[in-house]
Amino acid sequence: MQIHAKKGYENNRHPKSNPSELAADILKIVMRYRRVAEQNKECAREKCSSCIAPHMSQIISTIERNEAIVFVLPAFPGKSPNPAKVLGTRPDMAERKSLIFLDSICREIDKIYSPGAEIFICSDGRVFNDVVGIQEKDITTYQQDILAIIKELSLTKLKIFNLDDVFDHGNFDAMRSSLLENYAEPLEALEISVRINKEVNCLYRGITRFLFEDGMHPNMSISKTSLQKQCRKRALKVIQRSRAWDQLLAKHFPRAVRLSIHPQMCGSRKIGVHLMETTDEWLTPWHSVAIAIGGRFRLMKRSHINMLEAKLVFHDGRPSHYIANTSLELGLWK
Ligand SMILES: [Zn+2]
Repeated sequence: MQIHAKKGYENNRHPKSNPSELAADILKIVMRYRRVAEQNKECAREKCSSCIAPHMSQIISTIERNEAIVFVLPAFPGKSPNPAKVLGTRPDMAERKSLIFLDSICREIDKIYSPGAEIFICSDGRVFNDVVGIQEKDITTYQQDILAIIKELSLTKLKIFNLDDVFDHGNFDAMRSSLLENYAEPLEALEISVRINKEVNCLYRGITRFLFEDGMHPNMSISKTSLQKQCRKRALKVIQRSRAWDQLLAKHFPRAVRLSIHPQMCGSRKIGVHLMETTDEWLTPWHSVAIAIGGRFRLMKRSHINMLEAKLVFHDGRPSHYIANTSLELGLWK
C-alpha cells in the first residue's frame, strides 16, 4: 500500500503552524537583502507592513498548497559594454558570488519550510541588448556561461528562463518584435508614466544614468548634451521592453513572487534585492567588478578599483576579480 504524504502546511519543519506567520518569516529572510528607493530608506531598517503586505497572500496560498515558493527575478542580462565598469563580456566572480548568494537565500527558506523555494532567473539581456549596445553573440555566451556556473557549483535552487525559451525559431529580432506586439505599452503612454509616477521616474533616471556612463568614452563623436538626449530615449525603450518582459513573466509564472534588482518604493509589488554587498543601491554584478577586501567580496566599478591598490586574479584564463591590499580602509565604503 502506498502511503501518501500528509497534505498541507503541517508538513513543513517550521515550529509555527499558522501559514501567515510562516509566510511572514519567509518574507523576513528575503527582506533582509532588500534594495529600497532612496526616499524609503526607513523601510530597509525596520519591518514595514506596507512592504510585506503585497506578497503575503501569494506566499500563504503556496504554503497552503504545500508547494515550493517560486521567485522570479529578471536579471543577469549580460555584461555592460563599458570597459570602465567591467572586466569583460563573460560572467566572472561577481556573477559566481551573486548566484551562490541567491541559491543560499532559498536554502535559508528550506530550513523553515520543507517544500522549499526556488528562483527563476529570467535573463532580460535578449529583451533589450540592441538598445543598450550588447552584441547578440555576447548575450548567448553570457547565458550559456551562467547555466554552466549553476551546474558547476550545484546551485540546484536556481532555474533559468530566457526569451530564447519562449520562442524556438532562433530569430532574435522576431522574438523581440513578438514580445512588443503582444505585451508592450506604447512609448507615449510610458512617457506620461515617467512624468507622473515616482517609481517609474526613479527607474528611468537610474537607467538613463547607466546608459550615459556606458556611452561616455574618449572617442565619443557627439556632445554630452546629445548623448544625454539619446540616452533618455533609449532608457524609455529599455523600460518598455522590461515591462513587456514583466507581463510575459506574469503570464508564465502566475503564482510567483516578483524580485527585482532595482531599488523599490515602499509597498511595491516587487521586492528589490541585492545580489552582493555594495554601497551603491543601483550597482549590479554586470555593471561592476568583484573585489575581495579583508576576505569579503563587494561590487565596485572597475574604474574605482583602478584607483586602489588591488591585485587582478584570473580564473580559467580570464580576469575574474580583484583582491585589495589588506591594509585598505574598509571605512571607504561607510
Ligand atoms: Zn515600506
